[in-house]
Amino acid sequence: LSQPVQENDSLLPKMPPFDYTPPSYAGPSAEEILSKRQKFLSPAVFHFFKNPLNLVDGKMQYLFDEKGQRYLDAFGGIATVCCGHCHPQVVDAIVNQAKRLQHSTILYLNPAIAEFAEALAAKFPGDLKVVFFTNSGTEANELALLMARLYTGCHDVISIRNGYHGNAAGTMGATAQSSYKFNVVQTGVHHAQNPDQYRGIFGSDGLKYARDVEDIVTYGTSGRVAAFIAEAIQGVGGIMELAPGYLPAVYSTIRKAGGLCIVDEVQSGFARTGSHFWGFEAHGVVPDIVTMAKGIGNGIPLGAVVTTPEIAKVLAYRSYFNTFGGNPVCTAAGLAVLKVIEKESLQQNALTVGSYLKQRLTSLKGKYEIIGDVRGRGLMLGVELVRDRQSKTPANVETLHVMEQMKDMGVLVGKGGFFGNVFRITPPLCFTKEDADFLVDVMDYTLSKM
Ligand code: PLP
Repeated sequence: LSQPVQENDSLLPKMPPFDYTPPSYAGPSAEEILSKRQKFLSPAVFHFFKNPLNLVDGKMQYLFDEKGQRYLDAFGGIATVCCGHCHPQVVDAIVNQAKRLQHSTILYLNPAIAEFAEALAAKFPGDLKVVFFTNSGTEANELALLMARLYTGCHDVISIRNGYHGNAAGTMGATAQSSYKFNVVQTGVHHAQNPDQYRGIFGSDGLKYARDVEDIVTYGTSGRVAAFIAEAIQGVGGIMELAPGYLPAVYSTIRKAGGLCIVDEVQSGFARTGSHFWGFEAHGVVPDIVTMAKGIGNGIPLGAVVTTPEIAKVLAYRSYFNTFGGNPVCTAAGLAVLKVIEKESLQQNALTVGSYLKQRLTSLKGKYEIIGDVRGRGLMLGVELVRDRQSKTPANVETLHVMEQMKDMGVLVGKGGFFGNVFRITPPLCFTKEDADFLVDVMDYTLSKM
């Protein structure tokens, strides 16, 4: 496919300077770790990288391997590390809480849990004021679907093709990509046309896609539904922005059918999109239930569901219980994350640096035919590679190859999309303009060698 990277090439882009030296590493070698992984860990995601890195340290937007080699993390632990790796304020909050009380359940009172719930609720408009904590995005979406089904007394759920909502029975049902589905029972979910402006059957006409949801309600259900669930921007599906006008029209259809509107902000929340704190805000809608995880704890396992007091009542006095949900160490991290986003103006940074990065990636599209599309908002960007712009044949082998080459040059990006041909760029929100330049220069260099 390409020539190997020439290390003495004077055109090789230079990584921006960064004033941090990781502590020396005395643990097992990368080869030993790999052999342990092959023996003792599930083989589920081994296909991602040919030569996975052994990462032992992280500082802000950078990761370090066991040799102290620095990598620019433009994937952010899959859109999870929002403040930066090991952000000092988040680390302090975790350590201080862990020293006082590591675990407490929802049966008792605890300040770390209640204070974070209050601060999180303050981030929402209208009546969205009641918080349930979970451990992950999957659990948050499972709970959201359960609440909608209990509240409406209906079972039918509508989700969008190409969406990803988790890997337990209910959320796997709502997920609509064959590579994330298995032959287990996942009943009651209908998958609507994807309002994908690049590949979708109706182009950018949000209202036409919304009519498909109306048809599903009419022909696929009793006319009453439990819920509609969608990501504000599809993440795993390849950073796909919903066509304009889609969400308001669908919300109106669903509400007429007695259903609740659930927005999955697992990737798009916590200021990532730059223009707003939550992805749904860009669509001018207010959902009934919002789910979140990833960025909420800057990498600490935590998820949440936020809804209205009226809907929250469905769980009142029921034995709905989650041992670790709302663990005080995790919620202390969550509170610190909100403070850091505010104090360091990370939303504004996501907007400024994200717009600059998108503009530079779009210029790259002018240079390379293989780039079919550049899309996304803030620091949630996608670059789709195609073999031919006309046919949009996915360049999935090339995507993996470029991703590996970029990794060898010190830049980590993710990949996704139904065909695995979309670079996913979701770095920590402290990403700088210099980091953006380095990323684009490395992508440029790599593409120029193909
Ligand atoms: N929802 C979205 C949009 C996601 O991207 C993911 C994970 O990638 C999930 C839900 C599931 O979250 P988790 O992996 O924390 O269970």
